[in-house]
Amino acid sequence: MHIYLNIHTHHPSTEKDTLSIVNAQTVSGWMDMAVGKFSVGLHPWYIKPESIDEDFAQLEKLARQPNVLAIGECGLDRLIALDLRFQEEVFIRQIRLAESLQKPVIIHCVKAFSELIALKKKLKSSIPMIVHGFNNNAQIAEELIKHQFYLSFGTAILNSESNASKIISTMPIQQLFLETDDKNCFISTIFAHASNYLNQPVEVLQEQILQNFKKVVSVDLSVV
Ligand SMILES: [Zn+2]
Repeated sequence: MHIYLNIHTHHPSTEKDTLSIVNAQTVSGWMDMAVGKFSVGLHPWYIKPESIDEDFAQLEKLARQPNVLAIGECGLDRLIALDLRFQEEVFIRQIRLAESLQKPVIIHCVKAFSELIALKKKLKSSIPMIVHGFNNNAQIAEELIKHQFYLSFGTAILNSESNASKIISTMPIQQLFLETDDKNCFISTIFAHASNYLNQPVEVLQEQILQNFKKVVSVDLSVV
């Protein structure tokens, strides 16, 4: 059986043959994490400086759950009001947490790619880092790939004029993930489009992306 691995979604999925990593953070707190596989993180949009220590303590606790496979989404966003240096501090704490738990990081990055790359270098972090919702130009993609980031593509590839559509065919398939993010879209639709761009049968892509996933998570996936 071939599995569709959805590396990042905000919706618990009932799609068959699908393994979804559900982002458990919502605007109003944490979703019920009893059933499924999750990622937990403090998204830059929802960081509250006044309660950061309590929020981080709660995050730390949730992050230890065995069905939490990744930390995130977290990262850097230049378009919001919150000071970028403060965002960076909170991001570094989450990278350290990911390292201590040996779980990969799912990254939200808006107009701060040079800071992101510099940070990875500075921290000498060996934890796998997945830039989600990639829709930037070839030069940024190339830099990220060179620095061993994984890139995850979502609904942007449904639009043939997007940056994501223009560069996905140049992606090393070993550093690729696919996702639906907060969109109401089937992950199989994303796979079908990616398969066209990469000129690979869907089954090959499914297998490769599952292999990529097994490489970045250190948990036993024999249950899926
Ligand atoms: Zn998201």
